[in-house]
Amino acid sequence: MLQKKTTLKGKTALITGSTSGIGLATAHVLAEQGINLVLHGLMDENEGIALAEEFSATYQIKALFDGANLMDTNAITAFMERAIEIMGSIDILVNNAGIQHTEGVDTFPTSKWNAIIAINLTAAFHTIQKSLPSMKANGWGRIINVASVHGLVASLNKSAYVAAKHGIVGLTKAVALECAEQGITANAICPGWVDTPLINNQIAEVAKRENVEFEQAKYNLITAKQALPEMMDPRQIGEFILFLCSDTARSITGASLPMDGAWTAQ
Ligand code: NAD
Repeated sequence: MLQKKTTLKGKTALITGSTSGIGLATAHVLAEQGINLVLHGLMDENEGIALAEEFSATYQIKALFDGANLMDTNAITAFMERAIEIMGSIDILVNNAGIQHTEGVDTFPTSKWNAIIAINLTAAFHTIQKSLPSMKANGWGRIINVASVHGLVASLNKSAYVAAKHGIVGLTKAVALECAEQGITANAICPGWVDTPLINNQIAEVAKRENVEFEQAKYNLITAKQALPEMMDPRQIGEFILFLCSDTARSITGASLPMDGAWTAQ
């Protein structure tokens, strides 16, 4: 039997990388529930402020934008402190921002390795560390890390991405253990192909290599890995994140949850 019904309306969610793709779709899903938002991503400051104002007006919520570059630890600290000062607390933390670079490990540029580890993994350590005090004070929190199937299995030419995503799966488990008695859950979602700008370069590479149209290349890319021959809509990830915020999901913690059209079933 569920002990209590947590009201999500009025809580604050901070979503890194919410100016595009999965993060932006998740922002809409959470805002529909009356959840206040800290929007974030690499976007022109004025456009970011306009985006936050649009969310506020559409959903009657409090919304804030910050354009902190997650490669810069000082910028992350300033971002988190500002968010907590203005919003009071971070109740739901979605570590979603990420980048990709595909190349064989023997020629993989060190700068790309460092950027992928910093943005896709280390930034989540910092945001979690800064969010935990207010979550612990409230006795409630949800940490959701958008990992990838590449947190569970590898693919060719993705050494840094696979390392970072395996790393965030490990970080998720460690945080879940440390916070289990404080009403805070930590989980990793492991999506297969999701229809966002992040994968456009990979589709373009397939189109060039196989000399096919963009849509055919997209289909070829999906079916090379997934049994389900379609890309996910970013909103599906947002709906899954909303479920993980519910009371029903309060015992799901430390989990790495594939949402991958049977990619990792094989
Ligand atoms: P996207 O390119 O649409 O969005 C990425 C977001 O991260 C943007 O808001 C961007 O501004 C932000 N970002 C990038 N570099 C940043 C930096 N240095 N500082 C601050 N913000 C930065 O990508 P997406 O597909 O929505 O990816 C979101 C997450 O989902 C990533 O972690 C990605 O690895 C993961 N993922 C994506 C797929 C997919 O198929 N698209 C599959 C599995 C996992």
